[in-house]
Amino acid sequence: MNNKYLSFVIPVYNEEATIKPLFERILDVINLIEIDSYEIIFVDDGSSDRSWIEINELIKKYPHKIKGIKLRRNFGKSSALSAGFKKSRGNIIFTLDADLQDDPTEIPKFLEKLESGHDLVCGWRKNRNDPLSKTLPSKLFNRVTSILTEVKLHDFNCGFKAYKKEVLDCIKVYGELHRYIPVLAHSLGFKITEVPVQHHRRKQGKSKYGLERYTRGFIDLLTVLATTHYLHKPGHLFGSLGLFFGVIGMTSLGYLTILWFMEVRPIGTRPLFLFGILCIILSVQLISLGILAELITKNVDNNYVDKQICEVVEIPEKNG
Ligand code: UDP
Ligand code: MG
Repeated sequence: MNNKYLSFVIPVYNEEATIKPLFERILDVINLIEIDSYEIIFVDDGSSDRSWIEINELIKKYPHKIKGIKLRRNFGKSSALSAGFKKSRGNIIFTLDADLQDDPTEIPKFLEKLESGHDLVCGWRKNRNDPLSKTLPSKLFNRVTSILTEVKLHDFNCGFKAYKKEVLDCIKVYGELHRYIPVLAHSLGFKITEVPVQHHRRKQGKSKYGLERYTRGFIDLLTVLATTHYLHKPGHLFGSLGLFFGVIGMTSLGYLTILWFMEVRPIGTRPLFLFGILCIILSVQLISLGILAELITKNVDNNYVDKQICEVVEIPEKNG
């Protein structure tokens, strides 16, 4: 990488006590490494404490290095990150949590990995300093996500990550999908890796997430699986489910038809009869849904899809 312009995107939701110390720690590290330029973008996600005032005080002091974005209300971490990504100008984008649990001294490790050819580097809180009520479900969540998505990472949800700009240009982060950015990036063919990072106990403010994040997280996982594996062939997802139920329905009804021909006993009152019909109806609905989904996919903007999956290298035309 020739040019190194770092953008730090930091989502902030009621973190008044740690904004200035975090900024100072980032600055300490940046002053020791060789880069061309940097900017720090604080995104206030509808805080109700003094966070926005703290951010503004910093902007007054360092107007060329700090940007502040204020969301009108609390929209959630994904929206805060997405707003920050849009305003970032660097070719390398870091994300860090604002609560000082992530340690900026790890920044050089991330840069090394990016320089060695990776597109996205995820922090791995190997010794996570959070209560057991957070670390245990998180381990389960990471294992299940890793198995289902085939992305080999230990800590999908670590807020400390570094991206090459191209990655974020291709991914839309909304809802609570920030947890799955590595999965989305992997599905688009970007090179992903992880680095173990120090993780500190939260000393100020409160955690914004409880167990409910995992129930919502698993619903998001279904969305991510559907959109990564079947984005370009939704008919296969619905079609195979439809065929599965179709085969069960036909087998059940076929068996009953044979019984009816053999006049063993009446079939109209048997639960298997209703079950078979239910499967056939479900099958027809799923297959129709698949066809509809294919028709919709056919009409999406192909330029967007192309931009997502390839880097276009054009040979300049020769003059004369
Ligand atoms: N955050 C945010 N919007 C929210 C919730 C959290 O911007 O709705 C920010 C929060 O200020 C912090 C980061 O996201 O900088 C991670 O949140 P938290 O530390 O509460 O998560 P935990 O470390 O407990 O998983
Ligand atoms: Mg935290």
